[in-house]
Amino acid sequence: MLLRHLRPRHPRPTATPTRFRRLAAVITVVIAGALAGGASPAAPHSRGGAPSATPAAPSSPGGPGNSRGVPGDDSGATPLEEGLPDGPSPRPADAGPSRDILARIPTFPAAPPPQPITLPAGASAPWLTHIPTTQPVAFITIDDGWVKHPQAFALIRAAQVPVTLFLTVNAIQDDPGHFARLQAAGAVIEAHTISHPNLRGRSYDFQRREICGSADRLGAMYGRRPVLFRPPFGEQDPTTLRAVRDCGMRAAFFWKETVNNGVVRYQVGRKVQCGDIILMHFRPAFVADFLAALQAIHDAGLTPALLADYLPDGPEPAIPSSPVSAPPGRDLPASSISGDQRN
Ligand SMILES: [Zn+2]
Repeated sequence: MLLRHLRPRHPRPTATPTRFRRLAAVITVVIAGALAGGASPAAPHSRGGAPSATPAAPSSPGGPGNSRGVPGDDSGATPLEEGLPDGPSPRPADAGPSRDILARIPTFPAAPPPQPITLPAGASAPWLTHIPTTQPVAFITIDDGWVKHPQAFALIRAAQVPVTLFLTVNAIQDDPGHFARLQAAGAVIEAHTISHPNLRGRSYDFQRREICGSADRLGAMYGRRPVLFRPPFGEQDPTTLRAVRDCGMRAAFFWKETVNNGVVRYQVGRKVQCGDIILMHFRPAFVADFLAALQAIHDAGLTPALLADYLPDGPEPAIPSSPVSAPPGRDLPASSISGDQRN
């Protein structure tokens, strides 16, 4: 998926030779890191370290793709998503964000005490594009994990805002410590499958393996079993939502806004609304994307809040002792979670 993100199948008109040279330099660093036998924390994820079982995202999903017509779909199917990274070039691993970058982090009012939403009873997990709340909050979510940006930790820590990470196991397992540091900086880790397939139309067993498996593996790695799920590419079907519930998670999520190359794209209007969920990814442009998300929330008069805080409590699933022996997940009582379809 990283390769697709980097590959300029449709070079943007604004691309300059300088930008291509910078990309070439980044790629050189990646290759050099791979040849050195270790993933440089400053470099995007080396796919050489990824298991061969990691399927590439279908370039033409068997499903209807981004059937909602939402720009910036997680599938990377839009030209924007496939464009070249346009953020600041990664700095050396030991270099924190510059003073200029830190000065661009907005200051937010204190978040109000979260008022969790209520969900009707049902046999499937709810599918949410936003949190229906009038509280002045929005939610930053960051997906995948292929790129381990050297400034992510310092930036998240400096911003002092909660962020939700929907991590793909195959994307993070070459450097799980990177995300443990983000967790220590205040990020909360949720599930985004093991191998990042398009789940729509797949069998229950296949989906359950990907969904339960990612929750179990991430729980074993980070000491907290995820309670939220986002399907790759935002693609799901009723089987997905049933499996999410059966895997002991409370809800599955789409999004409202997307951020890429430092630009926020809106489904509706030009302003983040109360309860909106903002999608970004771990990409080379992480700094620009994160700052853009923060600024958009600030400009809307909102404060970042934690997604999990707005879901009703459910039983805390057991943390498996190891990924191999992990139980497939524990069912929640039917009354504790529901099938609130919003998309
Ligand atoms: Zn993803």
